[in-house]
Amino acid sequence: MQLQVKTLLNRIQHFAGFVYQEVRLTPRRIEITLQAHAQRAARCSQCRQSAPGYDELPQREWLFVPLWNIPTCFLYAPRRVHCAEHGVVVEHIPWSQGKRPITVAMMCFLSQWARRLSWRETARAFRPSWECVYRSVEWFVHWGLAHRRLEGIEAIGVDEIHWGQGKRADNFLTVIYQIDRHCRRLLWVGRRRTQATLRRGLAALGQEVIGGLRFVCSDMWKAYLNVIAAKAGHALHVLDRFHITMHLNQAVDQVRRAESGRLRQGMRAQKLKRMRWQLLRRGSRVRGRAKQRLHGLLQANLATGRAWMLKETFRDFWRYRSVSWAGAFLAVWTERALRSRIEPMRKVARMLRSHQELLMNWFRAKGEISAGAVEGLNNKIRVVTRRSYGFRTYNAMEIALYHTLGRLPEPLSTHTFC
Ligand SMILES: [Zn+2]
Repeated sequence: MQLQVKTLLNRIQHFAGFVYQEVRLTPRRIEITLQAHAQRAARCSQCRQSAPGYDELPQREWLFVPLWNIPTCFLYAPRRVHCAEHGVVVEHIPWSQGKRPITVAMMCFLSQWARRLSWRETARAFRPSWECVYRSVEWFVHWGLAHRRLEGIEAIGVDEIHWGQGKRADNFLTVIYQIDRHCRRLLWVGRRRTQATLRRGLAALGQEVIGGLRFVCSDMWKAYLNVIAAKAGHALHVLDRFHITMHLNQAVDQVRRAESGRLRQGMRAQKLKRMRWQLLRRGSRVRGRAKQRLHGLLQANLATGRAWMLKETFRDFWRYRSVSWAGAFLAVWTERALRSRIEPMRKVARMLRSHQELLMNWFRAKGEISAGAVEGLNNKIRVVTRRSYGFRTYNAMEIALYHTLGRLPEPLSTHTFC
């Protein structure tokens, strides 16, 4: 048997009630004409019930998956039916979604590539417009969100992400992750980082999901603390290690900047030069020459050195198993920090003391919460928001985030052959 495009299409993508009538190669593209099966009645696009025909509309085009990377399209003249319930409406066309000039198969095809390439690259590789890629991914994501399952979610992480330029309220996103060991994904993203945003997010997940939560992980951001206490008070609220470490690092960095500003020149100022990243790293990970310089800095009796020591000793805190021993350590550490006369470190100490109860929940969660889950997902989000996807709107970015991090189910991709 000789392989024809029609054979291929019938094997990969057969639509009950329609036949592939003609396949033509024009100088620019492959045109595939479809026809309704003569013996089958058309179906109403609203209720999918068979209905008597009414009239025929002009021929329409839908972009199909390119064959040998030649642009390929479906041509078909839709019928209108007279449905008993819905009146005169366009028939149900299985490869089409509403008024979109692109087939479902092509939307799936583009969406799957848009996860590996940027949207712009996808558009360039398969030659639809950027807008067309965007709309396809959007449809794909909406389908996924409507069909995803939100069962068995025990731990969520709530965080804020900075996006774009500037520090306006609109430049922040609130994200909700699932951080269970078996499934880590983006559950929800919303604009701004206010109480209202988080309330909207939790409401979107639904009462059933919130009721089933055992752990909620977040930073000390006041707006979030309030909402979590009000809406998910039954779950153990944990301040996570990643954020505390971040606060300590920021404090050390502040001390370093202030001190090098104060010293300006001289031997001691030299010791602070180009040490920013070394100071922020974990002490055990600083090696070689950088390590020698770090030693030199510590011996110079600089505030930066003392702040760094405080930050490093705090790492022992996370090693405790017993809540009471960890509590004792925290008391000693904060005492030292408060006496250090280094304002940024004192500020962290005060913050830790005022959130002690939530901080101790880390030990009550007994290793059920992974320290790296929120951080890992945040990093992935940054890759998406910073990579030049050419997002023109917030909505496009939101779609891209769900698309890459939401682990959404996919509509059956009818164009795959196996
Ligand atoms: Zn109907």
